[in-house]
Amino acid sequence: MKKRKILILCIDAGSHDYLAASDLPNLQNLAEAGFYRHANAVIPSVTNVNNLSIATGTFPETHGITTNYHVDRTTGKGEFIEDDRFLLAPTLFETAKTSKFADKTALFVTKKKLLRMLAAGTDIAVAAEDPPDEYIQMVGPVEPIYSAEINWWLLRAVRETLRRDDPELVYCSTTDWVQHKYAPDAEHSQQHLATLDAIIGDIVDEDPEREIYITADHGMLAKTTAIDPGRVLTECGIPASSIPIIKDRYVAHHGNLGGAAYVFLKNGADISEAIQLLLNTSGIEEVYAAEDAARTFRLHPERIGDIFVLADETTVFGELETAVETTNVRSHGSRHESYVPIIGYNSPWEAADYEYNVDVGRLFLESLR
Ligand SMILES: [Zn+2]
Repeated sequence: MKKRKILILCIDAGSHDYLAASDLPNLQNLAEAGFYRHANAVIPSVTNVNNLSIATGTFPETHGITTNYHVDRTTGKGEFIEDDRFLLAPTLFETAKTSKFADKTALFVTKKKLLRMLAAGTDIAVAAEDPPDEYIQMVGPVEPIYSAEINWWLLRAVRETLRRDDPELVYCSTTDWVQHKYAPDAEHSQQHLATLDAIIGDIVDEDPEREIYITADHGMLAKTTAIDPGRVLTECGIPASSIPIIKDRYVAHHGNLGGAAYVFLKNGADISEAIQLLLNTSGIEEVYAAEDAARTFRLHPERIGDIFVLADETTVFGELETAVETTNVRSHGSRHESYVPIIGYNSPWEAADYEYNVDVGRLFLESLR
């Protein structure tokens, strides 16, 4: 029997509207030979949360990564999540190794922080932002983190590694700078995806038996209003702060403005009044006490503040100078960016088996048991 091999590609912000607006003949071939499914991303629809969900095959209630920025409830101190100290579940790579599915596993990401979060169990781990020297020799010089070229570099690195090492399990995740800057029908967006599509074509031609899954971590939409939920509450006499879940060091992507936030109350007794006030705030679409949010979205209850808020389609949350501002960014995080495609090729499962992008990892894990 032929050995099973898998490639999972998470196109950052590779939602249906982006794919549909570009000419992608190779993706189309994969979808026609396999399936193309409209599925859900995990909410909050941000990169860390979804990549960790796909690459562990679990929801945040299990793997523990609910945000890009963790606040310690006892000390009040915040820190960026940039390694695996907060990760509570094994990666697909670890399970693929312990179950003897894979002799060799490989991880390809754009940002170093995602590499540090997901590297457990990998034999090959490459961040395009800071690749090993041998990869610079093999693939070419490092491209800027704020470019389309860095994603092309990354996928070429996957192609070269498949040729050279033929790992049984490969996970690759790009970065979404292009989508933060450009709408689906912009020439830059189309060029970005068309070049990725061409490299995917090479990969399929050279290894037509490999199972391939292509999905996304979230979508991307234009935003016109920014709200600081902590400030909204504080100005109404309820002392509070809020953290936009998207918050990271790569501010050129999104200015730390995103469609989901965790609210921290100074006094827990204010919760009912705070929820009511936020529900009455224009631009805020959904408001949940932590335990309701944890249940509804399968989040880790101790890592989501006191209140979870989701923005409407044109609103983002941030840490602002005033409670409400106008803005002009493309961003994500809310329910409106939580719809993603799943393309499956050579898959033993059917389109109907996939409800969430998480299922790409989950079904693979189940098949190892
Ligand atoms: Zn992303």
